[in-house]
Amino acid sequence: MKTKEKPEKLSDLTKTPSGKAGSFKLTDVSGWKTFKPVLDEDKCINCLQCWVYCPHGVIERTSDDQAISIDLQECKGCGICADVCPTDAIEMNKIRGVDDE
Ligand code: SF4
Ligand code: SF4
Repeated sequence: MKTKEKPEKLSDLTKTPSGKAGSFKLTDVSGWKTFKPVLDEDKCINCLQCWVYCPHGVIERTSDDQAISIDLQECKGCGICADVCPTDAIEMNKIRGVDDE
């Protein structure tokens, strides 16, 4: 049985838990998404809960591990990141659509 080596530090982990962003890749989904996550960096404590739970692997740690960034082109707008964030640093904002016109 193959055993995985335990990472010694955070930077040894892959950029996202599910590997490369785009497991459900449809390329640019910005056309049909209803909500998008907006990060308030002042509230973020870098706990990485959002990074762990994002089902699409579109949240990445920055190279210095001090922050996260969200790939809005690949984000599906599910809101899980906002739900799990302990400091409400992520807010789901409605994207303007046909209802607003
Ligand atoms: S809204 Fe969903 S897909 Fe987008 S970053 Fe948050 S958890 Fe990931
Ligand atoms: S869950 Fe919230 S506090 Fe934690 S890293 Fe993500 S945005 Fe920052």
